[in-house]
Amino acid sequence: LHRNPGETEFHQAVREVLETLGPVLVKYPELADRKIIQLCCEPERQIIFRVPWQDDKGQTHINRAFRVEFNSALGPYKGGMRFHPSVYLGIIKFLGFEQIFKNALTGMPIGGGKGGSDFDPKGRSDAEIMRFCQSMMTELYRHLGEYTDVPAGDIGVGQREIGYLFGQYKRITNRYESGVFTGKGLDWGGSRARKEATGFGTVFFTNEMLKVRSDSLDGKTCVVSGSGNVAIYAMEKAMELGAKVVACSDSNGVIVDKEGIDLDLVKQIKEVERRRINAYVQEKKSARYLEDGNIWEVPCHVALPCATQNELNGHDAKALVKNGCIVVAEGANMPCTPEAVRIFSDAGIAFGPGKAANAGGVATSALEMQQNASRDSWTFEHTEERLREIMVDIHRNCYETADEFGAPGNYVTGANITGFLKVGRAMMAMGVV
Ligand code: NDP
Repeated sequence: LHRNPGETEFHQAVREVLETLGPVLVKYPELADRKIIQLCCEPERQIIFRVPWQDDKGQTHINRAFRVEFNSALGPYKGGMRFHPSVYLGIIKFLGFEQIFKNALTGMPIGGGKGGSDFDPKGRSDAEIMRFCQSMMTELYRHLGEYTDVPAGDIGVGQREIGYLFGQYKRITNRYESGVFTGKGLDWGGSRARKEATGFGTVFFTNEMLKVRSDSLDGKTCVVSGSGNVAIYAMEKAMELGAKVVACSDSNGVIVDKEGIDLDLVKQIKEVERRRINAYVQEKKSARYLEDGNIWEVPCHVALPCATQNELNGHDAKALVKNGCIVVAEGANMPCTPEAVRIFSDAGIAFGPGKAANAGGVATSALEMQQNASRDSWTFEHTEERLREIMVDIHRNCYETADEFGAPGNYVTGANITGFLKVGRAMMAMGVV
């Protein structure tokens, strides 16, 4: 704690992992002797820099940006960039730390990293977003490379921002290095099914959790928080598998539609018009908009938090239990507080932690890197099937590892131990570096 003062979310993420690793150190004491846990907690490199830019009126703004290159034992640093006013070092470090184990779980050759800025893209014009991205890349480019560090999107960073960032990288380096970014557009090196991957993957994982209980998504009522990239495609796959999604949200309020959310309308509002989710009720009379409402009080069998960290607390968890929820899977990173996770566990609710349940996004990013390396472009069906297989594997590995280490059905323990062992063994093999 004293080494990283004030980094609350980072402390939370580290504590959650450390609490589950005891049995591994008993079984493999050499990992403790070589201080592998301590090494995992200390980023290999942290870059903090200023990003000056001008708005459309000619006013100068200065933002702060970060890239935390956490661990490269398994491959180049890999993890998204987040643009949100809440971003500071503690958030980027929690995300980067989680990313190490998540990336290990995918079975792909990728290390862990994360970046972002306290820049707020809301209400900014395209030209302002472009100038910000270009200024950011003018510093960041020197730290990136397809064999070094490969960023992607996250909150506030979608294909538009990746385009501006990649364009500036290409211009400065004079290299068309497709593999340096993932989440690119289909015409310029992107992968089919990448946009859908995190949400789809979360639902594939959820379906596996239900299968273990001889159940399925068919006929279930589902609630999905957020209405961004992850939430939209989690809703799409859940509906495809027979669930009825009755609520989604943004940071201002909640939409409840008893007839089932109209996904085409959500896509039109969020992806095309870039408006707030409350626009939904203007088009759909069956829906209600609850300003500052609590989405977790909407009764459901399946809850998929897909917005942001710590969005679901103990109070919310109790409401879900009371209303008959049977499974929770994290599409977002660390959306459930430790208290909420404990309540789920005590109530026998199946809980899929983000580093396993939302790993489909980064796994498909690794598939994008494969396609770039081989100058190839796969079909949607092939890419989605690879994603589905990866999610089934991650689920099985977490489930079996939890069993092996005496915590049957505990996916938190299963995910942490599986990821840690994979990274830890690679670090051991490479010596003290
Ligand atoms: P988007 O920016 O596309 O969407 C984020 C959604 O969450 C929006 O609806 C946003 O509402 C809401 N949100 C963001 N911050 C807050 C906040 N502080 N309080 C309440 N609501 C908030 O991001 P993504 O969908 O890409 O990411 C969502 C989550 O999934 C994040 O935790 C991210 O780290 C995680 N994730 C994303 C992956 C990806 O491939 N994109 C991969 C793995 C994990 P509003 O517009 O009001 O801010």
